[in-house]
Amino acid sequence: MSDLGGMLRSMAGRYPRDPVLVEVPTNAVPGGPWSATSVEAFTGCPLKYWWSKVEKWETPSTLPLVVGRAVHNALEMLLALAPDERTREAGGPLLETALDAELALVADTSFHIGIDPEAVREAARTAFDAYFDTEIPADIDVVGLEREVTTDIAGLPFRGFIDRIALADAGLRVTDYKTGQAKPRYWWGYWRQQLLYAQALTAAGEPIAEVELLFLTSPRAVTRPVYEAATSRAVHDLERANEERASMAEAARWEARPSPLCGWCDFRAVCPTQARTAPAPGSQASDEALVRAGLRKREP
Ligand code: SF4
Repeated sequence: MSDLGGMLRSMAGRYPRDPVLVEVPTNAVPGGPWSATSVEAFTGCPLKYWWSKVEKWETPSTLPLVVGRAVHNALEMLLALAPDERTREAGGPLLETALDAELALVADTSFHIGIDPEAVREAARTAFDAYFDTEIPADIDVVGLEREVTTDIAGLPFRGFIDRIALADAGLRVTDYKTGQAKPRYWWGYWRQQLLYAQALTAAGEPIAEVELLFLTSPRAVTRPVYEAATSRAVHDLERANEERASMAEAARWEARPSPLCGWCDFRAVCPTQARTAPAPGSQASDEALVRAGLRKREP
């Protein structure tokens, strides 16, 4: 009894971190190729991935998602211009066009969470303006924008959409725009995504020399060379995710991996690691709770 406080503290310290195997009602695995984002999603939390990719629960649009899409689209239009036309003045109307399109999509559906159009515009304008402090757009020797690549990596089908491919001094460079805050804790995840794109393009006959991240909230560009050890590690992560996914699906037990990101997880209300009385995943009670939480299932 005297050590009850210590025991509870110890449990509280362990509970949010230890992975937990959670039973699900099917052996299904998602069809289709892997992508860099699905490797991130699976590695972050397989149970969340199961809800999203196997059960096909869709989460509502949020302000950061709408801002991200508008800024990406505006940058695509800007970089498609002739180099000497890629100015802040030319970019402004492009961003407004992209914002109008994204906000019209949001207005057409009630499937979003508290999106204030003016807040979206302000955040997007700030990020887009910051872009011009990360690089000189006229200097970018564009090879491809929003390029889709479909190939096999280590024998596994892979598909990616790459923000930008450009010719730099060292050779071809893949660039990804980030409109969210840079989180050092997830640094390897950022690079893994870019290295998988580099590997996919190299496999498709376009050898990539560098990968780059452009952070638009705290404007800075970070570039890394593509080298064998880093690429092998990224490919190994993809292979491991594929093996783990296959064995979890076969056992119909998917691992929940609690982390600080649980605080932002759309499935928190029905996750057994967050609520001891959570209904079984895939049960009617769980599905009804997800609907009450504002999620919906994608059409088959
Ligand atoms: S709340 Fe945490 S552990 Fe549960 S599904 Fe979401 S990310 Fe995974």
